[in-house]
Amino acid sequence: MKIETLCLHSSDFKNEYGCLTTPIYQTSTFVHEGVEDTSKYSYSRLANPTRCHLESLVAKLENGYSAFAFSSGMAAITTAIKLIKPPAHIIASDDLYGGSIRLFSNDALSYGYEFDFIDTSNLELVKSKIRKDTKAIYIETPSNPLMHVSDIKEIANIAKANNLLFFVDNTFLTPYFQRPLDLGADVVVHSGTKFLGGHNDALAGFAIVKNSELNDRLAYLYKTVGACLSPFDSFLIERGIKTLPLRMDRVNSNAKVVANWLRENPIVNKVYYAGFEDSLGYSTMLKQSSGFGGMISFELKESRYVSQILQSVKVFQYAESLGGVESLITFPKKQTHADVPENILNAKGINDRFLRISVGIENVEDLIEDLRQAFKV
Ligand SMILES: *Cc1c(COP(=O)(O)O)cnc(C)c1O
Repeated sequence: MKIETLCLHSSDFKNEYGCLTTPIYQTSTFVHEGVEDTSKYSYSRLANPTRCHLESLVAKLENGYSAFAFSSGMAAITTAIKLIKPPAHIIASDDLYGGSIRLFSNDALSYGYEFDFIDTSNLELVKSKIRKDTKAIYIETPSNPLMHVSDIKEIANIAKANNLLFFVDNTFLTPYFQRPLDLGADVVVHSGTKFLGGHNDALAGFAIVKNSELNDRLAYLYKTVGACLSPFDSFLIERGIKTLPLRMDRVNSNAKVVANWLRENPIVNKVYYAGFEDSLGYSTMLKQSSGFGGMISFELKESRYVSQILQSVKVFQYAESLGGVESLITFPKKQTHADVPENILNAKGINDRFLRISVGIENVEDLIEDLRQAFKV
């Protein structure tokens, strides 16, 4: 089955009344018929039918052995990195979601992890950072918010040769455009809050693993940590996934128009977008992804334009987050990346002239018109 059909018809799940959609099994526990009853369901932290249905769908979309649905993307990442046994040195992209940076550079240290943040698009640099105690590589591609592209297959080869666990955060492109497990990754993580759910109405996270050994270890962590997705939110995310291909196609075509418009605008200094043919990672994108997604960052020529734009957009909403049907505009320095030390942000160019856009599924002419009136000088 192709992915568009899979998003709707992946199920072999039988329910009592023949409901077309997955019922919301709003229960914490399950009654046993007898002492030898070994039903898969005993307590909803371990497994719940609504959630299991969603997990089996997401596992199929990412072509994984299994998927685990969490209460947020950060819950998924925090639990999944426990697959790495401390003490451990971990190589990570230097451009990551702000919450991942916060976790890796502060909290994870106390679990016995030491992170090296580097430009993982530079394969020689990745190789040169491997030490005796290195146990994992963790990347985002394209990265948040600078859209650096790392070669998943090449890094998977490096990971395999050195017996390292390889994690990819696939939030930006989703399995509709990019399937890291097929390219050699071991674990894929997602903020399901973003494109998978797609409607800015529920938080969720996923970790998808490639084999039964990782499945067994993560299943143990999952029930131990307990950051599981509720039945109702599982239902919402599954409903969102039904239109993932349609939404991603529209987001992809809208983003191309918006990125090109920004590039031509006289108050814009620089545009970061993985779909520009002259961007650094373009050839890698063509190799490993079938679309460029809806994320665009840009730097304005002067910081005074930031408040002007954020206050005058009407279709774009000034809000943190991304990946929903509504277009959003974000000020990373004050929002998503506010906890990253200022000197690091400045060195990367995430300054007070830097904004990020998540393109939605509106009519693209309305998006351009909205930007035109907000960018007027
Ligand atoms: C939002 C985001 C996360 C965190 O997910 P939450 O659902 O907000 O906890 C992780 N990675 C990326 C790339 C994200 O955009």
